[in-house]
Amino acid sequence: MQSEIELYRPQDLAEALTLLNQLGLDGKLLGGGTNIVSELRDGHHTGKSLIDLSRVKELRGINLQDGYIVIGGGTTITDLIDHPLICTHAGILLESARLFANPLVRNRATVAGNLTDASPAADTAPPLLALNAEVQLMSQSETRWLKLEDFITGVRKTLLQPGELMSAIRWPVPSDRSAGAYTKVGLRKADAISVLSVAVLLEIDATGMCKQAGIALGAVAPLPFRVHVAETLLIGKELKPELIAEASHLAAEACRPIDDIRGTAAYRKRITAVIVRRLLTKILEALK
Ligand SMILES: Cc1cc2nc3c(=O)[nH]c(=O)nc-3n(C[C@H](O)[C@H](O)[C@H](O)COP(=O)(O)OP(=O)(O)OC[C@H]3O[C@@H](n4cnc5c(N)ncnc54)[C@H](O)[C@@H]3O)c2cc1C
Repeated sequence: MQSEIELYRPQDLAEALTLLNQLGLDGKLLGGGTNIVSELRDGHHTGKSLIDLSRVKELRGINLQDGYIVIGGGTTITDLIDHPLICTHAGILLESARLFANPLVRNRATVAGNLTDASPAADTAPPLLALNAEVQLMSQSETRWLKLEDFITGVRKTLLQPGELMSAIRWPVPSDRSAGAYTKVGLRKADAISVLSVAVLLEIDATGMCKQAGIALGAVAPLPFRVHVAETLLIGKELKPELIAEASHLAAEACRPIDDIRGTAAYRKRITAVIVRRLLTKILEALK
């Protein structure tokens, strides 16, 4: 562990942004620290300062605003679990939060830290992608919203600029005729890094046709991503088993997995098709 790192503990958002601006590339943001602390231990953090965001109240909270669910970037995974707005409007995110790490990590880990770390296996990414989420990036001089889909650009790469922090995440409140599901395949039932993960969100209209579809995959490519080709295939149609099978096949074809200690590329591709088919079928049943 580096001992010469200076720790700053801003009390509010304005102070955090000022520090970020003043410290420049030397100032590294600290959310829950569940990734950074191991980076420090491994000597991967080269900055001189940490800006601890845990006291910044403006970054916490879950609210309904102008047709969006808005969560602060510093909201922890535990905060998501059993929150009434998440339970009612984002069951898909709730499922991923429940499968995330273990209670100790969930108490510290933040949603902004998870998305900014940009691991291909980040558990909040597929559900938020399927929900069509946007992220709010804030600096002292500017606030901008970006689609989450555009924000993550590669393995541990994002469009976050020096001087910016992720202040919030939002997504449009899904319609009453929609439902979703999330599945993570790990090497054990709890506290496992995803071998692959799948989030599916469907909206079925009153005539039984698919109005909206969100299918997002994790840990099967350098970044979590949406399978637009499969979503487009489903929209405007009745979801018959053959169509579901075709969409599942397209999802598997879109994967660019690797072989690693958790699974082979071939396994990941094959199981992706199985899980996408299962989730589409399950959601369809739930919406009947
Ligand atoms: C034992 C263990 C198990 C884990 N299991 C899982 C799991 O099941 N699923 C999973 O997805 N992850 C898992 N992780 C990884 C980690 O817990 C998550 O990625 C977590 O969400 C990171 O959030 P954090 O707040 O702790 O981030 P930190 O470690 O504080 O920061 C991570 C990165 O995000 C940046 N950052 C933090 N907050 C902000 C902000 N507001 N704006 C901009 N940048 C910011 C930091 O500068 C840093 O680059 C696990 C980690 C451990 C140690």
